[in-house]
Amino acid sequence: MSSQAPIAIIGAGIGGLVAALALIQRGIAVDVYEQASELREVGAGLQLAANGTRVLISLGLGEAVENISCVPEGKEVRLYNTGQTWKLFDLGQTSVEKYGAPYWMSHRGDLHRILVDAVEAARPGAIRLGHKLTAFEQSASGVAMHFSNGATAAASAMVGADGVHSAVRQILFGDMPAQFMGVAAWRGLVPMERLPKHLQRLVGCNWVGPGGHVITYPLRGGKLLNFVAALERDNWAVDSWTEAGTQAECAADFVGWHDDIQEIVRHIDIPYKWALLGREPLQKWSVGRVSLLGDACHPTLPMLAQGANMAIEDGMVLARCLAGEPDVAKALKQFETARVERTSQIVRRSTEAAKRFHNPALADPAGAAAYVDREWTPEKIEARYGWLFEYDAMETPLPAVQGPD
Ligand SMILES: Cc1cc2nc3c(=O)[nH]c(=O)nc-3n(C[C@H](O)[C@H](O)[C@H](O)COP(=O)(O)OP(=O)(O)OC[C@H]3O[C@@H](n4cnc5c(N)ncnc54)[C@H](O)[C@@H]3O)c2cc1C
Repeated sequence: MSSQAPIAIIGAGIGGLVAALALIQRGIAVDVYEQASELREVGAGLQLAANGTRVLISLGLGEAVENISCVPEGKEVRLYNTGQTWKLFDLGQTSVEKYGAPYWMSHRGDLHRILVDAVEAARPGAIRLGHKLTAFEQSASGVAMHFSNGATAAASAMVGADGVHSAVRQILFGDMPAQFMGVAAWRGLVPMERLPKHLQRLVGCNWVGPGGHVITYPLRGGKLLNFVAALERDNWAVDSWTEAGTQAECAADFVGWHDDIQEIVRHIDIPYKWALLGREPLQKWSVGRVSLLGDACHPTLPMLAQGANMAIEDGMVLARCLAGEPDVAKALKQFETARVERTSQIVRRSTEAAKRFHNPALADPAGAAAYVDREWTPEKIEARYGWLFEYDAMETPLPAVQGPD
């Protein structure tokens, strides 16, 4: 093992690939180990806010990601049963003028493909598929890794970007299974052309209702509509990105909701089940030459649509720390210190947002509109979202650290 060996990233998901690309662009050799034996298009929509798109643009991916995305005009709040509509915020040019970067709505598979291609172009052979990390040991000079295919490898530092069920986190800090957050989700895609004209709009909608909410937004230049519904449940054990449900099961969950929702559900060919998992955000991510990023250390409910954006920010800040500090253990401590407060806040505020989106007050025909008027004032909206979107991962100051503890 040598401290001259490449940096290892475990997991070729969104955060791992952004970290890899940002490191390679800074002249640092990186190997990415991914458990999947092939990279397939799994998943559906992701929302990329200015804090995430700013990073993708700085990595040289702006045009490529914009081409596969939808640039929404704005977002709206709608009441689950009457469909009454409120403006949440404007996007499009407003996002660029206000936050210095666009807001894109993208299919995870499309974004993932662009990141894979960019990493492969920057360092051919960097992504090793079929490598599931099972164990590692670290010494003063490096990290030795073991994979389920029998392979071993050495690195100067290792970063677990291995998602919500992170093996790296488990080995570092012990078993902390993700908790089911009492919210079950449906996810589906609808070809926009199947929908009535009034639903073929380039806006995102947050439908709010007692005990559940639905988010819809356009993807792929408006050719697809992404549908994600979160419903409070006490028993829903599905823990997969690929578990299919039936249309009848999904439709049964939206009896009493507005016709627009029922219309969208009727056109989802395969609705997928998804359990929302969470965990108290970790306050310590780094031990010596090993650290974590993304869902591995701060899985979140999706109510602020920040899961992918946080992983993207992490990747950039990590690369800046490792590029600027030759002592990797110190650099990883600096990365953790730079990121832990913001990501913990986002996770906590996403959980709080669920209470607002699902509030029992929304069941009261007389009081529901007043509740939305009160809870979504322009001032409250700015306070909730402004600090998220204005963050600049390329410029945020890196804290001075004495050294790893
Ligand atoms: C297949 C898939 C589909 C998704 N679809 C959606 C979606 O439609 N909408 C949405 O909002 N979010 C989706 N997500 C989650 C979203 O990508 C993340 O919440 C967010 O982007 C944070 O990214 P991350 O890099 O931390 O983790 P992820 O993007 O989850 O990536 C983690 C990666 O680590 C790999 N991995 C895990 N364990 C090991 C191991 N032991 N050794 C090596 N590799 C390992 C995984 O295979 C995966 O590629 C999906 C995630 C996955 C993995």
